[in-house]
Amino acid sequence: MGTRKKVHAFVRVKPTDDFAHEMIRYGDDNKSIDIHLKKDIRKGVVNNQQTDWSFKLDGVLHDASQDLVYETVAKDVVSQALDGYNGTIMCYGQTGAGKTYTMTGATENYKHRGILPRALQQVFRMIEERPTHAITVRVSYLEIYNESLFDLLSTLPYVGPSVTPMTIVENPQGVFIKGLSVHLTSQEEDAFSLLFEGETNRIIASHTMNKNSSRSHCIFTIYMEAHSRTLSDEKYVTSKINLVDLAGSERLGKSGSEGRVLKEATYINKSLSFLEQAIIALGDHKRDHIPFRQCKLTHALKDSLGGNCNMVLVTNIYGEAAQLEETLSSLRFASRMKLVTTEPAINEKYNAERMVKNLEKELVLLKQELAIHDSLANRNIVTYDPMDEIQIAEINSQVRRYLEGTLDEIDIINLRQIQEVFNQFRMVLSQQEQEVEAALRRKYTLIDKNDFATISAVQKAGLIDVNGHLVGEPDGQGFGLGVAPFSTKPGKKSKSKKTVKDPPSSSARKEGASSPVSGKDLDMISTSKTQLVPSSKDGDVKDVLSRDRETSSIEPLPSDSPKEESRPLSIIT
Ligand code: ADP
Ligand code: MG
Repeated sequence: MGTRKKVHAFVRVKPTDDFAHEMIRYGDDNKSIDIHLKKDIRKGVVNNQQTDWSFKLDGVLHDASQDLVYETVAKDVVSQALDGYNGTIMCYGQTGAGKTYTMTGATENYKHRGILPRALQQVFRMIEERPTHAITVRVSYLEIYNESLFDLLSTLPYVGPSVTPMTIVENPQGVFIKGLSVHLTSQEEDAFSLLFEGETNRIIASHTMNKNSSRSHCIFTIYMEAHSRTLSDEKYVTSKINLVDLAGSERLGKSGSEGRVLKEATYINKSLSFLEQAIIALGDHKRDHIPFRQCKLTHALKDSLGGNCNMVLVTNIYGEAAQLEETLSSLRFASRMKLVTTEPAINEKYNAERMVKNLEKELVLLKQELAIHDSLANRNIVTYDPMDEIQIAEINSQVRRYLEGTLDEIDIINLRQIQEVFNQFRMVLSQQEQEVEAALRRKYTLIDKNDFATISAVQKAGLIDVNGHLVGEPDGQGFGLGVAPFSTKPGKKSKSKKTVKDPPSSSARKEGASSPVSGKDLDMISTSKTQLVPSSKDGDVKDVLSRDRETSSIEPLPSDSPKEESRPLSIIT
């Protein structure tokens, strides 16, 4: 997690000969601005209304050159974008206060060029200074007018909205405008001619569509993708810088407006107040829902307001007394913006193809390294490739021979072989478990462990000892395993055959008590849910099991046993 950072809010005051000195005062540190309103100016206003305001900002730019403005507000944002941080620079203010001058500047005069051409220039200069990276730059220019999206860099003659209207799309990577042309620019001149084309389209549109350009929002976006030229580096970074020239923020009096102007004013008021609502929500840390989707402007800027980007606001104001109401409203917007915090983070991505190639290379190197080690240790014919079926079958046979005792040890060759040996051990073991269970099933009557009626019948019949000789709880819960009356020793035959139908004698129960098969013993063979119910017959399961364990193999139980029908034990499963 990165550290939270406040949005930087600057105020730029448009130079004027008619500056209202008595009303506008700058703080000594150039970071605050005080407004004093003389009461007599606000005729008809109740006397107790506020007349003094103080706004704390990150800088007040008055009589500042375009150069100084760029250095102060944009330089760091642009330079950090090359390291993978998104950035947003936004100009807000009433019409004529200098937003477009700040953002685009006077194109005919190099000295007066604004943030946009300077940002492009800085981007390409920095690319030159980073020969270690291959950096691609793309640009797009979007205009939002009366809630419609326009592509200012559309290759078609600029006549209005494209045939397929553009839409704002959200995906896990962020927000993008479907249908908006994005242009690859390999050098500064290309980027400048695109910017020029966009500006021209903006002017043409204002004539052909009878559109007031100060009534639209314009978003110029520079997208960057930086790949290291070092082939081993599979990481790359992406970023975008949004340079936003907002529509004039002045509130047009509805009474005087009609037709086009009224429509524009309605849209502008709506989108700027939605922007303000989003900003207020972003500044309120208790709010978890930010209303971005209420209008095109906030929706298009969803991942560029707040979030993980470096954000800067320039509030353009007039310094004249006549504009003080609008100036106050613009400064209020700036101080709200200052409450917003963002969490700038690098947009780091991985190039999967390069990653695989690097891993393959690494593998080849490690195999070579291993081969050297083997030859130094005189271990010549060792391969490290995956095992084939024949090799696996050989290991299986070794494991079986080892378990039978015909092979004393298994030579260790390499890690892959050790893993296969363990694997084969597991397979043989599970095979044997199944064989044991199958053998038990063949030999004994099985009773469902949850079939309490049968269990109780068996208990009643005296085949199992309810007094604890049979492992098991009276309520059937956690029913254990055990052998109740049981008279035989291995190889000996019981005189009393005990089956469900043939209850054991009390003496048999007594004998059984002295030779229980513990639950543990049976757990060993994984006959889960299996219960042994005592009966009598030659040999017992314990014996079979211990013999199995000793030899690690199951000898088939004689199915042709003459006493087959009277099995020594019953198993409840
Ligand atoms: P906005 O875009 O806010 O409506 P503009 O940027 O178009 O306003 O500015 C209106 C006029 O004022 C333009 O002719 C512009 O050149 C001029 N202007 C604005 N700010 C400055 C400034 N800081 N220095 C010189 N001229 C400026
Ligand atoms: Mg403008």
